[in-house]
Amino acid sequence: MFKIIHERKKCISCGACALVCPAIFEMSEEDNLATLKNSKEDGDGVFELETDNADCAKEAIAICPVNVIKIQE
Ligand code: SF4
Repeated sequence: MFKIIHERKKCISCGACALVCPAIFEMSEEDNLATLKNSKEDGDGVFELETDNADCAKEAIAICPVNVIKIQE
């Protein structure tokens, strides 16, 4: 099991995570920030998702220019 952590308030809306990992990330039509699908907010603009399959999330972590995506195994 992996926990993906997205510090959404620091996203700069580049769109890269949603491009490489559309199963887990999408761009919000409301505020143009990346959204971690099916996640829960853990206070202060940080969102978390527990998942068994984090393969493409690792690509998103590698590509995010502001390093606001993290993973815990
Ligand atoms: S890659 Fe990072 S900065 Fe770009 S949209 Fe995703 S979370 Fe935001």
